[in-house]
Amino acid sequence: MKRDKLIFDLLEEELQRQEEGLELIASENFVSKQVMEAAGSVATNKYAEGLPGKRYYGGCEIVDEIETIAIERAKQLFNAAWANVQPHSGAQANAAVMLACLQPGDKILGFDLSHGGHLTHGSPVNFSGKLYKPFFYGVVKETGLIDYDKLKEVALKEKPKMIICGASAYSRDWDYEFIRQVADEVGALVLADISHPAGLIARGLLTDPLPHCHIVTTTTHKTLRGPRGGMIMLGKDFENPWGLKTPKGEVRMMSAILDSAVFPGTQGGPLEHIIAAKAIAFGEALSDNYMKYVVQVKKNAAVMAAAFIKLGYNIVSGGTDNHLILLDLRNKNISGKDAENALVKADITVNKNMVPFDDKSPFVTSGIRVGTAAITTRGLKEKEMEKIVELIDSVIKDHESEANIKKVRKKVNELTAKFPLYS
Ligand code: PLP
Repeated sequence: MKRDKLIFDLLEEELQRQEEGLELIASENFVSKQVMEAAGSVATNKYAEGLPGKRYYGGCEIVDEIETIAIERAKQLFNAAWANVQPHSGAQANAAVMLACLQPGDKILGFDLSHGGHLTHGSPVNFSGKLYKPFFYGVVKETGLIDYDKLKEVALKEKPKMIICGASAYSRDWDYEFIRQVADEVGALVLADISHPAGLIARGLLTDPLPHCHIVTTTTHKTLRGPRGGMIMLGKDFENPWGLKTPKGEVRMMSAILDSAVFPGTQGGPLEHIIAAKAIAFGEALSDNYMKYVVQVKKNAAVMAAAFIKLGYNIVSGGTDNHLILLDLRNKNISGKDAENALVKADITVNKNMVPFDDKSPFVTSGIRVGTAAITTRGLKEKEMEKIVELIDSVIKDHESEANIKKVRKKVNELTAKFPLYS
């Protein structure tokens, strides 16, 4: 068959973009060559509806072995009692959990999207806000920290069936123990969506939600540095505490209810090539090298935050405990959108982001979110973080000057050339 030059030329351009630019999108990372190889492997050809040992298709013996290894490594990495590695994405993982645990119209309590939460935690434009009745908590205006009093107040008033914690743009650790206490008071389940800081949690650098939360979901492609995908886990003590029933009315183990909410509940055939890549990434995440990596991710974010503060930037919550920083640009007279556009022209990729109590729309925003997961994979350290902050500041201060942007881009390209990615 003729090679599809059109697409491969574009992929070559994308590789070049990734090699030459500074990737600061907090949800992105660079997988290893072996993770990429597995993601592009022959396992993409295989249908394997069901679970290892219980498939609806023949010829699954080998993918059964692969998926079993992925599950075992996930359990080891997070000290979980059970894991399902089939969700195609983080959103799919959350959809399966809600299908398993809630009835349409049930109340849920999540972290407000405009304060840093995720669409799947009850946004009205998402299935979670359309099928269920969402209530929200946010951050305290003065501190930028989660408003736990408000969380408790809304929970006591509304008695939601599920409380969701976790975020897309929150730079601090979570008090899972407190949230569980509140949930116990009102009879709610706690879902912790650790998509962003999963790698840091796995290696003990942030509070572990598994001893406290009933169910934990994550993506596998952010700090965890695996292929794009999702996963659901249960902690050791929570095999079946609620007597939730299957659609047929049987009381089954929670793990079985979640398994069937993934398939056939919300998905068809699992992506066994991606599951192979997940297995490899989990193996890598168990290594000493990965431990060094996550420690550096956190250090880099802290150094970056301090450098921004020194230059007069406002960081929501005043700093970071994890891999990301949410910058409030309102004192810099530039919108998130204009900052993102100017920085992209300088080969610095960030995303515009709402800040809590934002007066601008989600298409404009007052902030940008930056993260250190991807650049740390390339080997950049504290010294480079300070340099990057200087480069960002230079673009933001003079964002209408094409000449300045060009000058910064040259410096960015010189810096990234010293830290080759795949070449
Ligand atoms: N949950 C959180 C907290 C996220 O930040 C994201 C993605 O950014 C998701 C879920 C959804 O993941 P995906 O894009 O894989 O569906």
